[in-house]
Amino acid sequence: MTDDETKSLVRKFVLKNALEHDGKARSDTVIAKIIGLKPELRKEVRMILDEINVVVDDVNKLNINEQKADLERIAPEMLVQEHKEQKNALPPLPNAEMCKVVTRFPPEPNGYPHIGHAKAVIIDEEYAKMYDGKLILRFDDTNPLKEKLEYYDAIKNGIEWLGVKPHMIKNTSDDMELIYKYGTQMLEIDAAYVCMCAINTIRENRRNGVECECRHLDHGHNFERWEKMFSEYEPSQAVVRFNGDMKSENTVMRDPTLFRIIDAEHPLQGHKYRVWPTYDLATSIEDSVDGVTHAIRTKEYELRNELYYAIIDKLQLRKPLMMEFSRLEFDGIPVSKRKIKSLIEEGLVKSWNDPRMPTLIGMKRRGILPQAIREFILTLGFTKANTKPPLDVLESINRKMIDPSSIRLFFVNNPTILHVKNAPVKNIKIKNHPDAYMGVREVKVNDTFYIAGDDAKKMKPGSEVRLIGAYNVKIDNVGEKIIGTYNGDELRNISKIQWVSKNNEVKMTIMVPKTLYVDEQYNSTSLEIIEGYSESYVSRLKPDDIAQFIRFGFCRIDSTNVAILTHR
Ligand SMILES: [Zn+2]
Repeated sequence: MTDDETKSLVRKFVLKNALEHDGKARSDTVIAKIIGLKPELRKEVRMILDEINVVVDDVNKLNINEQKADLERIAPEMLVQEHKEQKNALPPLPNAEMCKVVTRFPPEPNGYPHIGHAKAVIIDEEYAKMYDGKLILRFDDTNPLKEKLEYYDAIKNGIEWLGVKPHMIKNTSDDMELIYKYGTQMLEIDAAYVCMCAINTIRENRRNGVECECRHLDHGHNFERWEKMFSEYEPSQAVVRFNGDMKSENTVMRDPTLFRIIDAEHPLQGHKYRVWPTYDLATSIEDSVDGVTHAIRTKEYELRNELYYAIIDKLQLRKPLMMEFSRLEFDGIPVSKRKIKSLIEEGLVKSWNDPRMPTLIGMKRRGILPQAIREFILTLGFTKANTKPPLDVLESINRKMIDPSSIRLFFVNNPTILHVKNAPVKNIKIKNHPDAYMGVREVKVNDTFYIAGDDAKKMKPGSEVRLIGAYNVKIDNVGEKIIGTYNGDELRNISKIQWVSKNNEVKMTIMVPKTLYVDEQYNSTSLEIIEGYSESYVSRLKPDDIAQFIRFGFCRIDSTNVAILTHR
């Protein structure tokens, strides 16, 4: 490829990427797209990335109309394609036949499921539905050091909450005998060998592309070692390695581990096994024997595809089609298991269901509906490369769903007392929802109210406000308390404020979740606690109910007197 060709290709993709993301292209996304389209360019990735960085800087300076005009000029077909992609969020699967598609969702039960899992399982399910096929939920549980029964349940519950119904649920650990059989077969055909080098030596050799002597062991010795892995050897004394290519450009292929010894109690199998397959081996075998036709995983695994197929080839197994999609995460809310777990271990976040967390139970607790998550994921679609969609998109989908059924209540933050002279004592009827028929509530008011601190600050003697749904008040005096005088019931064009009548107040604590990370650093103010008063009516709501506190936001009731801000 000539330089000019590369340059033109890069410019097209940068422009398209910018148009897909509010005018701001991202180098990592563009490189992924280009390499995805032309894998042969992988060798020149550094050079192309340099070029991309230059073009991204340039293109991001243009406004969206200029970007569109530019793309239209050099690659009008890509503009058309953009529209098509948006309409069909999920493009058809390649080589798919009706009723014959089998997808699988293979989580490792080593943590709570999060938004990234939701994307995977929903896309797996949608494709199964699209072709009247099947979805398998398979627990990839071959590392007893990391897996817990608690996590199997968490994943099952999370999937159920999302409304996903797998046709079959299974565990890789139930197939251990089968996996051993294939392991033995690999040793027999010299596709694998038992390596007893020290871990550091293996690591070093893999880095430098050096073969070790174990690679040339005869069958007899190999099998003797293989036997001893089950009985005698210490963990880390021996591993089975794939007979790959120690000089491969793709370091994954440099004789990766297929089996290792782990002496730990497995949550389902107990101490029955100590030789455990690695992810790569287990996935190849399981996908094939499970009848999976289309296996989908995130782009991070792309380099492992070569190994995936190499194992399948060696074992002469049926070949599923492996596809990649981008991982879903939000800016400042990491989904990496390491980061999520360390937040909990360090006590920065108390539990998996903390409303700041990207876990499904965290999002549920925040008041996000599973239908909103599904719609959001389908809106994003399949092909979009590594982007971090703004959380606002999910929030706006969720808002549309909860708005029609959320009761409106008054909440005053940082309450200040307003005393009204000559105030009529009356019962006021307030609609529970401006449009939907949700009834009215009656509030008895006398002469004392709580109003929001921010509203109180704006008041000046002589100004006038209307207590929403009640009457007008002329302000006489501002200080620690506000003193005013009743000034008629008629509606006038004056500022309207919410209030809570004294003796009708209920103390509310509202948790306001924010992004966990800011600039890669833990955000120590990521959970704001706001205290204020709401109307006593709020006590009738139950956990999981959602209310809109007027001029504050939608909140999910978490427990008595505690709510969580879902979004504004
Ligand atoms: Zn070795």
